[in-house]
Amino acid sequence: MTDPAGTTPGSGAGPASGAGPAASRAGAGFLPGARTGTPPAPADLAVPVAGHRVLTGPDGSFPRIGELPDRSDWLPVGTLDGVPVWTAAVTDPEALPGSWHSWRRLAATVAEPSATLAGRALAVVGFRRTHRWCGACRAELADVPGESARRCPDCGLTAFLPLSVAVLVAITRPGPAGRPDQLLLVRHAYGPTELWALVAGFVEAGETLEGAAHREVGEEVGLTLDRVAYFGSQPWAMSGPGTLLAGFTATVADPTIEPQVDRRELTEARWFPLDALPAELPPAYSISRWLIDAVAARP
Ligand SMILES: [Zn+2]
Repeated sequence: MTDPAGTTPGSGAGPASGAGPAASRAGAGFLPGARTGTPPAPADLAVPVAGHRVLTGPDGSFPRIGELPDRSDWLPVGTLDGVPVWTAAVTDPEALPGSWHSWRRLAATVAEPSATLAGRALAVVGFRRTHRWCGACRAELADVPGESARRCPDCGLTAFLPLSVAVLVAITRPGPAGRPDQLLLVRHAYGPTELWALVAGFVEAGETLEGAAHREVGEEVGLTLDRVAYFGSQPWAMSGPGTLLAGFTATVADPTIEPQVDRRELTEARWFPLDALPAELPPAYSISRWLIDAVAARP
C-alpha cells in the first residue's frame, strides 16, 4: 500500500492560520459543483490544467476567465466564496500568462480552499482524459450535465469521478511516570524517506474507515489499537487526483508491545515523547501535520 500522504517534504510555510479540518467547516470557501446552467462569465475564476500542473497569475491568485484567450470547453469545478470556478485542459501552457505549479507547491503557498479547488480541477480534467471511452462497449462517453459523471450513449454505463479514501492514525501510549505521552511515528521505504510520518493506507472496498485504521496499523507495525476516534478529513491531490484523507487518533491496546515494521512499506517505527518530536515532520498544509500538532497540544 502506497503511503497516501504526509511523506512529502514541505517548507512548513503553509497556511498555518486557520489550517485544519475546522477551517473547511467555516461555510465560505470552496464548494465543489458540476452545474453547467450558466456559461462562464468574464469575472469567473479559471484554473487551467496542463498535465499535473495548474496555472496561477503573477500574484499567485487564479486568473479570471476574461483574462485568458476565448475557449468553449470550460468545465465546472465549483465556487470559491460564491464565484464560479472553471477548468480546462491546456495543450500549449507556455502561451498563457502566469506560472504553472504542481499541486504540492500550490498547497504549500495558498489558502486551504484554493488548494482544494485546484485539486478538484486536476481531478475533473484527469477524469475526462482517463474516461474517454466506455469500458464495457468502447463507445465514446459523454458528460452528464450537472454531475461529475460520464455516460455511455450506447449501453448506458455511467462512470463517476473516482474518489480514493485513505486513513491516517496518530497512535499514542502513556510515557514513563512523570513524562508526557508518546506518539508513534514511522519512516517509509520510498518517497521522502527522511520524514517521520503517521501510519497510513488506502481503504479497501467493503471496509469501514475504522476497519482500515485497525488493519493498516496491524499490517504495518503489528500493533492493536484501542479508542480509535475520528479527527477530521482533507481532500488530497498529491497521490493522484481524487483522494480523501481521513485522520484518526488512537491508543495502543497494550503499551508494552513494541512496533514491528513490515520492512516492505516501512523502514522504521519509533515512539517519540510529545515534547520531543523530530524536526522532520509532514508539511504544515497536511492533515498528517494537523493530527500530530493536535495530539502534541493536548493537555
Ligand atoms: Zn457502453
